Amino acid sequence: MKIKLKLNDGNEIPLLGLGVFKSPSGKITYETCLEALRMGYRHIDTAAVYGNEADVGRAVRDCGIARGEIFVTTKLWNSDQGHESGLKAFDLSLQRLGLDYVDLYLIHWPVEFLRHDSWRALCEIVASRRARSIGVSNFTVRHLKELGERSGVVPAVNQVEFHPFLFQRELLEYCRGRGIQLEAYSPLTKGDRLNDETVLEIAKKYGKTGAQILIRWCLQHEVVCIPKSVKTARLRENFSVFDFEISTEDMARLDSLNENYRTSWDPSGVE
Ligand code: NDP
Repeated sequence: MKIKLKLNDGNEIPLLGLGVFKSPSGKITYETCLEALRMGYRHIDTAAVYGNEADVGRAVRDCGIARGEIFVTTKLWNSDQGHESGLKAFDLSLQRLGLDYVDLYLIHWPVEFLRHDSWRALCEIVASRRARSIGVSNFTVRHLKELGERSGVVPAVNQVEFHPFLFQRELLEYCRGRGIQLEAYSPLTKGDRLNDETVLEIAKKYGKTGAQILIRWCLQHEVVCIPKSVKTARLRENFSVFDFEISTEDMARLDSLNENYRTSWDPSGVE
């Protein structure tokens, strides 16, 4: 199993990362990120709206690992969308992070009317090398097609909710066909389905936990996965997924759990 994937712009992204949504700002996020980096995580996913960019950045600066080995993502929040406001918001994110560049900058949601101006801002940011890659989040096939037609610049990444209970096969195939890397958020269903009977049965068979099965399922679909935890034992558990392989039959069983279950808003209604 590869631990990094190549993006359509030539940059590499670690397949497994740490999410920090709802990770409280201050000591907890700082220490969680430090601990994760020491454990082997090399990818952290934050966002302006999470309110913890400063703690993530401080951990990246303090951890003693070369900056070039760590992949940092942040995102442009809805209220900052637009061209000028997008450029400004990016500058503030970099300042809070205390970094010279981010590895990936994403449009957080496909906000109606504004997302094309935001995308123009992101194109300028990537040209200035202050973001090494740019992408989107919560974009449906329709949003992606429209973005491609209007700008001609294909996002490197689309970060969406993705787990066996929301197996977005059509979106996955569309992105794969166009070189857009899919990234799974809420891969553990925010904890809601960790005790699903099929997941637990498969977990038992491999001597793993339900969380490890859900993470490994993403990785075997070559979808980048960013589970969140602020607990040491869970950080370790979520990272211990490279020593086993789910069989083709069990992957198919997990695929069949799809019930279009979402823990976040459905972006398909956004015009
Ligand atoms: P996850 O599916 O990663 O689940 C996180 C929850 O599961 C937390 O409550 C955590 O609690 C718990 N948990 C973590 N590991 C385990 C484990 N091994 N066993 C049992 N429970 C566990 O949800 P998120 O919504 O946080 O998604 C992950 C990341 O994706 C976010 O942090 C964020 O970076 C990104 N995201 C992006 C969105 C977007 O719109 N682009 C939307 C939502 C998320 P605890 O911390 O106490 O361990």
